[in-house]
Amino acid sequence: MAYGNQLAISTRMLTKRYGDFTAVDGVDLDVSAGTVFAVLGPNGAGKTTTVRMLATLVAPTSGHASVFGFDVVADAVAVRSLIGLTGQYASVDEDMTAAENLMLFSRLIGLSRRQSRARADDLLESFALADVADRQIKTFSGGMRRRLDLAASMIAAPPLLFLDEPTTGLDPRTRQQMWSTVRTLVAEGTTVLLTTQYLEEADQLADRIAVIDHGRLVAEGTADSLKDAVGTSTLEVTVGVADAVMAGRILGHLSPGTVTVGVDGIVNVALTDTAAVGPMLVALADHGIVTTSVAVAKPTLDDVFFAITDQTGRTSMAAGAIRQEHAA
Ligand code: ATP
Repeated sequence: MAYGNQLAISTRMLTKRYGDFTAVDGVDLDVSAGTVFAVLGPNGAGKTTTVRMLATLVAPTSGHASVFGFDVVADAVAVRSLIGLTGQYASVDEDMTAAENLMLFSRLIGLSRRQSRARADDLLESFALADVADRQIKTFSGGMRRRLDLAASMIAAPPLLFLDEPTTGLDPRTRQQMWSTVRTLVAEGTTVLLTTQYLEEADQLADRIAVIDHGRLVAEGTADSLKDAVGTSTLEVTVGVADAVMAGRILGHLSPGTVTVGVDGIVNVALTDTAAVGPMLVALADHGIVTTSVAVAKPTLDDVFFAITDQTGRTSMAAGAIRQEHAA
């Protein structure tokens, strides 16, 4: 089926209330088919609730959502035939091996025995489970179960795949493998909606990113446009350790932004205008300070997240949680 130029997901004023508490608050999203869309936010922001509404598992209190044009309430059966969701394979037979399990799911969606074997082998490899392919699932650790669940959710390569915090708790190597598997699926035509607390994951994978906080959409765009909106690039110059403090003073005179001087001779200056870089380097040279490296860096998604949540003025704790998660 071709879904070119179509919206895989569209929501208008999507809202979910639990009693007096509003978990998702008037969210508008448009996700183009064939892209990766990240919903980024701290614990409790409303990411899972949004996914559950889109996956027809929870009914919206108000507002609308559609998947490939099918309404998640009125056309729930059609929506279910177009989506895959992680976590739905939790109740697998514990006595089966990982390979048997993936083969069973492959057979269930109509692949031949040979295709099922090939698909299972590919996925076991992608999720670093090849070595334990023939072990019963009841002997698996939590991390191994999670990887098997992700692998199972990818068997059908559905038109729209929801990955709810797919790499939380995975080691860096498996996380990279997961990213590469997602990229392959998308190249083959699957649209992916991914929720994550990891800014790096959104930056690496997503074509567009929505930041949600306290149930509200607080920013949406490409990683670059979100970074540009924050606006502060950083100049990093490396000078001799003995010159670093002097360099910091000179640059501080030329910039209204914050200057930080590292013991390793690296001086960072927050730039309000990248045109200031030339005069800054000339000033250093005029004072006889040799720079061994110069780089201008865009803000990171961390900076974006902090800037956005600072503007809303209420999420310093949530932002702290994100930072911790990111550093972990
Ligand atoms: P996490 O990263 O922790 O999974 P999240 O962004 O996915 O967070 P949600 O699980 O969507 O957040 O939860 C959003 C808010 O809604 C939370 O405060 C949660 O306690 C609340 N909530 C979710 N489900 C229910 C429910 N069934 N009844 C009452 N409150 C709920």
